[in-house]
Amino acid sequence: MQELTHYINGSHVKGQSGRFADVFNPATGEVQAKVPLASTVEMAMAVDVAADAQPGWAAVNPQRRARVLMKFVDLLNRDMDKLAEALSREHGKTFPDAKGDIQRGLEVVEYCIGAPQMLKGEFTDGAGPGIDIYSMRQALGVTAGITPFNFPAMIPMWMFAPAIACGNAFILKPSERDPSVPLMLAELFEEAGLPKGILQVVNGDKEAVDAILDHPTIQSVGFVGSTPIAEYIYGRGCSNGKRVQCFGGAKNHMIIMPDADMDQAADALVGAGYGAAGERCMAISVAVPVGDETADRLIEKLVPRIEKLKVGPYTAGDDVDYGPVVTAAAKEKILGLVQSGVDQGAELVVDGRDFSLQGYEDGFFVGPHLFDKVTPDMDIYKQEIFGPVLSTVRAQSYQEALKLAMDHEMGNGTAIFTRDGDTARDFASKINVGMVGINVPIPVPLAYHTFGGWKKSAFGDLNQHGPDAFKFYTRTKTVTARWPSGLKDGGEFHFKAMD
Ligand code: NAD
Repeated sequence: MQELTHYINGSHVKGQSGRFADVFNPATGEVQAKVPLASTVEMAMAVDVAADAQPGWAAVNPQRRARVLMKFVDLLNRDMDKLAEALSREHGKTFPDAKGDIQRGLEVVEYCIGAPQMLKGEFTDGAGPGIDIYSMRQALGVTAGITPFNFPAMIPMWMFAPAIACGNAFILKPSERDPSVPLMLAELFEEAGLPKGILQVVNGDKEAVDAILDHPTIQSVGFVGSTPIAEYIYGRGCSNGKRVQCFGGAKNHMIIMPDADMDQAADALVGAGYGAAGERCMAISVAVPVGDETADRLIEKLVPRIEKLKVGPYTAGDDVDYGPVVTAAAKEKILGLVQSGVDQGAELVVDGRDFSLQGYEDGFFVGPHLFDKVTPDMDIYKQEIFGPVLSTVRAQSYQEALKLAMDHEMGNGTAIFTRDGDTARDFASKINVGMVGINVPIPVPLAYHTFGGWKKSAFGDLNQHGPDAFKFYTRTKTVTARWPSGLKDGGEFHFKAMD
């Protein structure tokens, strides 16, 4: 049994708390490693190392820092297959999807190579007689991030790439379900030239998270995960005076108008609903066809596509559509919610409950499910299922569909499928959701735009990556300077406007 470590001060360090969590191979159900769960003392050791290392890194000029990121990109490409294999083995997602996970993180590293440009301050020459005003963006110091299991490469990189490009040290507390790739990323970044102590990985659970939230040296906390934990971390982190951004759960609606290309909509729904076993915060989990006729046509197109889905382990080849869910507990929760849908009167059109894969009977595989005639009072509508379960809620008009999506407490992503530009424009303008797709089912913005939801899907005012990341990971300092004579004339006692 492999015993994983922390990555502190440039070395793999064994856990000292005596507490461990099991890391499964979700395809076989076997425990393949155990991951140490850090104590408050272990977290404090990493914080001390980071605090010592950070001023030196912040003093490196931004272009030289960017060169380390350039080299890191090269190494990510060099080791892409190795990283993807480790990722699939612990997470369960297909091999091409694991590469996508790394790629979408890598793209944010590439974007952060532009840090020298992003960190340039502002300057006003001659704001008053002999007076200049300029602003600088300075690193925060020691920063930290807490990440979910579902994108073990992408989301850590979304946090640590901008943090480090800005001159901060970063402590990552990855998900305890799939911690190997984050450890590999920290090693690779140092191979690229990052000084020791600037990126550390401290594995753990609530104790490690609370140690981050309460440590006075840590200046900012980024979190991605479920909404209840996001809310908790935001509250505790903010009340301790930290800068905090938390991204939570989702329930993404896709509206299908009667004029939509129904084949295109059905293809999009199958990919967005069942890809990665539905374990994506941008997965579509609610289809909202407008009108019964649209709904009937859509279901007719969906059923054969869903029945054809190939579910299997990542080792079974690139034509596998999706793999197992992450744990037995996740599987149990998903099947429990499916049962609640049946009990509460939804129509289970595709029933994956009996799904079993020969040779992988102990794996955490869940067959695809499709519900029709779901109503907003049902648990399968209200809760995030995070599994391969698509719910169809029939709306009788565009207005009703719009209201449905707007009334849901989650607001991460949404999409509309239509051929009508006016409807699409109205939807994009009115919907209270952070990321909107028009004939695009999973509208994840690219690295140079920002990513973030609204409502209970996000807490804090800045998004991930894009220009917001450079704001989140720096403080603005504004200097008003006067040279050389004015001070000799004595003090200035009145708060004056600039002449
Ligand atoms: P999770 O909330 O269970 O765990 C996320 C992190 O929080 C992990 O590192 C975990 O160790 C830690 N954690 C768990 N319980 C804790 C507690 N009681 N106290 C302190 N820390 C705790 O989420 P998950 O199951 O790993 O990930 C899936 C969730 O993440 C889904 O809800 C999904 O929608 C969401 N997600 C959101 C986004 C986004 O950008 N909005 C992206 C990816 C995933």
